[in-house]
Amino acid sequence: MEIKIENLTKAYGDFKAVDNMNLNIADGELVGLLGPSGCGKSTTLFMLAGLNDPTSGHIYFGGKDVTKVAPEDREIGLVFQNYALYPHMTVADNIMFPLINRKVPKAEARERAQEMAKLVQLDHLMDRKPKALSGGQQQRVAIARALVKKPEVLLLDEPLSNLDAKLRVETREEIRRIQQEVGITTIFVTHDQEEAMSISDRIAVMEKGVVQQFEVPQKMYLNPGNLFVAQFLGTPQINIFDVTVKGGKIMCDDVVLREGCKAADGNYKAGVRPEAFNVSENGILVKATHVRMTGRELQLRVALAKEELRVLVHSDMQVSVGTEFCVTIRDNQILLFDQTGKTVGK
Ligand code: ATP
Repeated sequence: MEIKIENLTKAYGDFKAVDNMNLNIADGELVGLLGPSGCGKSTTLFMLAGLNDPTSGHIYFGGKDVTKVAPEDREIGLVFQNYALYPHMTVADNIMFPLINRKVPKAEARERAQEMAKLVQLDHLMDRKPKALSGGQQQRVAIARALVKKPEVLLLDEPLSNLDAKLRVETREEIRRIQQEVGITTIFVTHDQEEAMSISDRIAVMEKGVVQQFEVPQKMYLNPGNLFVAQFLGTPQINIFDVTVKGGKIMCDDVVLREGCKAADGNYKAGVRPEAFNVSENGILVKATHVRMTGRELQLRVALAKEELRVLVHSDMQVSVGTEFCVTIRDNQILLFDQTGKTVGK
């Protein structure tokens, strides 16, 4: 089902937790709602769920205005960070609960719960109680329970936060698989940029209640709309430093980083991702100041003019603190931002 969010605002006194949000989400799409703590993600999700009344604006599900519709009449499935399973009930009873609550006959409820358990690959654990399950399994029960009523929209609020690193990765893949299998329009709230990028069709990045950019992950990573988005996506973080453009040359102090730039002469902030550097015979001379081995790559810090930049190189490079070498920056991988932080080009 399509979701349209129109001029949606939630104010607490003078403070706007969500400020004039506009998003059109396609049927079957998984949208990651991404941003730092307090940026308004949960408030947005709660308004979509009908658990928090907007101050102004509208929400449409499949063309129907649901802004004033009660939560139980919205055809949504909700999953929170803390599972919220009933501890005294078995997996089967937990999954069936929303159906029993709606007076669906027990035999039919059991059959549908079984179907959902199969979908989340827990049908062999139907008689267990939640405390006898791992965190990832508990969250899959919560997802099965959210889907058993066959909702049109699935809303997930930081569903992986309580899981350890390995389980987080496994469970997010599992959520993506289930979402695609069911084909349900899904909004997934997270503050973890890698998580959002790896499973979303599109990401909405929020800051201070405002959507900064709504885009497919790869495009957003390569072409962030502003400095905030550029810095929020990617680890290690993008390098941001002052440059001057003069006659098509991008200069960092007196070092030429690139020629043939089309931006007007002036002062800019440049953004270069750590992986955008190539080690080369000739190019920009740099000197390693820190070297850290991570396995797949070496994370370096290098001195370039007055700047110290993060640079990723292959783990087989022979480099130690003090080593001097040359780098080039891959084509189109110097982003330029104006003084307000808006992207002006490359
Ligand atoms: P987190 O990741 O920490 O949950 P979030 O992005 O989900 O953050 P929200 O919970 O949506 O953020 O909160 C957005 C802002 O609104 C926060 O600054 C919060 O303090 C504020 N806020 C939320 N509820 C209320 C309330 N009832 N009264 C006043 N301010 C509130």
